[in-house]
Amino acid sequence: MNKNRITILVVTIFTLGAIILMTGSTFTENHLQIKCGALPLETSEISTAKPILSAKLAKNSLKLSWTKVENADEYKIYRSKKRNGKYKKIAEVTADTLNFSDKDYKGKRKTYYYKIKAVSRSGSSIEHIYSNTIKKTVYKHKSKVHGVTYIDGILIVNKTYKLPKDYNPGTNSEAYKAFKKMQSDAYKDKINLFIASGFRSYSYQKNLYNRYKSTDGKDKADTYSARAGHSEHQTGLAFDINNPNSSFDNTKESKWLAKNCTKYGFIIRYQKSKEKITGYKYESWHIRYLGKKLAKKVTKSGKCLEEYLGITSKYKQR
Ligand SMILES: [Zn+2]
Repeated sequence: MNKNRITILVVTIFTLGAIILMTGSTFTENHLQIKCGALPLETSEISTAKPILSAKLAKNSLKLSWTKVENADEYKIYRSKKRNGKYKKIAEVTADTLNFSDKDYKGKRKTYYYKIKAVSRSGSSIEHIYSNTIKKTVYKHKSKVHGVTYIDGILIVNKTYKLPKDYNPGTNSEAYKAFKKMQSDAYKDKINLFIASGFRSYSYQKNLYNRYKSTDGKDKADTYSARAGHSEHQTGLAFDINNPNSSFDNTKESKWLAKNCTKYGFIIRYQKSKEKITGYKYESWHIRYLGKKLAKKVTKSGKCLEEYLGITSKYKQR
């Protein structure tokens, strides 16, 4: 072999190698396996990658979604009341559907387990692969999770619904972030907003209420202060803005707040003329975080939160 021939051979091997490497990285796995001499994947054969299932709670349903499985013809959705219990098929969807809303919450249980099965049919053979199993607590109209009441998935505290003593979540970070955004936008309008009172623990509220009770008497105190466990401030989702008293009413700050807070996910929780329903006198300064979508809906309805959810706000004991 002369020198030229060796050079041509080396260049050829190098080029072939480069082609294989390039095709391997740009074409599908099938091509690479054929080139490498391994058995090609049958087009009907189901991918061994498990579909990954996840779930999100919506107001009246649980939305399940999953990752696509190559060559799947359909997906079957299963639900069980126990992780290792009997899984009942609740739906079958075609391969191009990658989500499903479970709206059927019959029975008394609040927690369900879900998994899906990707099915591939080719001639007489059927192949399938299961996803991971996920556990989800479903909010029925009313549910209690660790002593905290949710109505249609919304955490609720008022004179009827109490929080446990040890419920101590601190300031809700999402609500705080929404406030900061609102604060900086208000500042552009030359409006200065600040939080006078945010998260309050059970024991803090207890002292506060007792102080009001001893000066104003129980009946009066109940119109403006919450008993321990009944304060929305214990959720970390409520803020008192600037001056938490009637001197805040009709200020340019309170007007700005009433007009704009919904955009940031807040509502004026205790409205004028709703005293009998909310159980509290009008508080122009007290805002409650609900998230943008819900805050808009509630505000648009013109209802207070109790009316919107169809619930009461009354102490069991006088
Ligand atoms: Zn307040």
